[in-house]
Amino acid sequence: MGLRLHNTLTRAAEPFEPQDPERVGIYGCGPTIYGHAHIGNFRTFLFYDLVHRYLEWKGYGVHFVMNFTDVDDKTIRAAREAGVGIGEFTEPFAEAVLEEADALGMARFDLYPRATAYVDGMIELVQTLLDRKLAYVTEDGSVFFDISAFPGYGKLSGKDLEQVRTGERVSGDDYGKDDVRDFALWKAVKPEDEEVGAAWDAPWGRGRPGWHLECSVMGLREVGTTLDLHLGGEDLIFPHHEDEIAQSEGATGHPFARCWLHVKHLRVEGSKMSKSLGNFITVRELLDEGVSRAAIRHQLLSAQYRRELNFSRAGLEASEKAVARLVDFRDRLRRRPVEEVEMDEAQDSTEGQPSSGGPLARAAARAREGFETAMDDDLNISGALGAVFTFVNEANAHLDRERGVAAAERDAALALVASVDRVLGLVELADRERGVDPEVEAWVQERIEARAQARRDRDWSRADAIRDELSSRGIVLEDGPDGTRWKRVTTASPGA
Ligand code: AMP
Ligand code: ZN
Repeated sequence: MGLRLHNTLTRAAEPFEPQDPERVGIYGCGPTIYGHAHIGNFRTFLFYDLVHRYLEWKGYGVHFVMNFTDVDDKTIRAAREAGVGIGEFTEPFAEAVLEEADALGMARFDLYPRATAYVDGMIELVQTLLDRKLAYVTEDGSVFFDISAFPGYGKLSGKDLEQVRTGERVSGDDYGKDDVRDFALWKAVKPEDEEVGAAWDAPWGRGRPGWHLECSVMGLREVGTTLDLHLGGEDLIFPHHEDEIAQSEGATGHPFARCWLHVKHLRVEGSKMSKSLGNFITVRELLDEGVSRAAIRHQLLSAQYRRELNFSRAGLEASEKAVARLVDFRDRLRRRPVEEVEMDEAQDSTEGQPSSGGPLARAAARAREGFETAMDDDLNISGALGAVFTFVNEANAHLDRERGVAAAERDAALALVASVDRVLGLVELADRERGVDPEVEAWVQERIEARAQARRDRDWSRADAIRDELSSRGIVLEDGPDGTRWKRVTTASPGA
């Protein structure tokens, strides 16, 4: 059974069938850059990372775009308060998001478009909607989408339009729209927009794009007419995504996205996160406090995206232990002395597959299957982690019982950890946090193994030479019952 995803549009789990498996087109709504992103935003962004990594793990080619919303009411207001232009104000927050994303082990996406760089495309799209009579210009030069002219309006959110109060005129903020449900494609210029440089000329009048329009244009231009996946937090279903569909489909005549995934909002210590409750936490604050990055990553990833997830200090501690368990297990395997071959079971390996015979290799194969089955089931990460930790428990019990381990067995177990970590990114991040360079690590391990082999061959001078070679690069070995451990004693760079 392949990957199945719960599509908000159809309200059903569907097989994932991208238009081109070599280039799965994905758009995820990114942050509004008027301040530091909070951990709720990062629940959503880490989910994007999970989708990105898992699809690549399954062999798809992925083209992933996440935007930065750099012009909207909030960025304009904040730039004005700061007394600077909008670009000068927002750009540092975009950089901060990227730094925080790196710190939490997110693999970079293909592109991070800023809305202000696409205003020409937005004007074009509005013109198309005007030409198609799906939009109208108001007296002040704003443009609204006429939802009564688009029959599919409401299909994503399931909103019954009659329930959305009609006919009610709102003063002040509505730029003179015909129907309160119509939404702005273009907002006529106000003095504060000019003040921060957030105004552009358009055939119907000077102004700025509406937020929904921005995502439609960046998605259409950078991903394609029909996205394979459109991602966002659950708060965006209505009106943001409903409006993206209306504008995009109204203009192109094609479905805007085949599948929509929405992430449930993160809670903090059991409550909704809000500034007034004092439980509003930014990633920056956690990083400044020195909280383990891998633990933050683990906690924010640990529940399936449509399920409740509660961020808590106690949870962070549990996450730290979970990550340590995985890393310690990997390190333990690496140190374990390799037994000389007496592994009839493990020898029946076929076609370059690691052994299918030994107990560790068999447990690793079961774990891989359990991991993939859970992830294929609408990205059930908690099930996938469960399969990995069951394996760690089984394998640790095995290592407790046995002194050595057959090379093929150990390699199968190490390969399982490395493979699932291409999706989880936890061991990789923990290594980075400890300042471990994977290349140096691999080289030291290779030298330790060569020394162990020399000792088995009773070639003492070669074994000593290897120990000296390591020591000249600041690495000391300690032999113990659980294998050889190593540590660094100088700051000399141990390049290979
Ligand atoms: P914003 O910067 O508010 O536009 O949000 C950026 C992304 O974070 C959007 O996909 C939001 O849906 C998502 N988001 C906002 N708050 C939360 C939350 N508490 N939990 C999860 N995702 C959130
Ligand atoms: Zn968006």
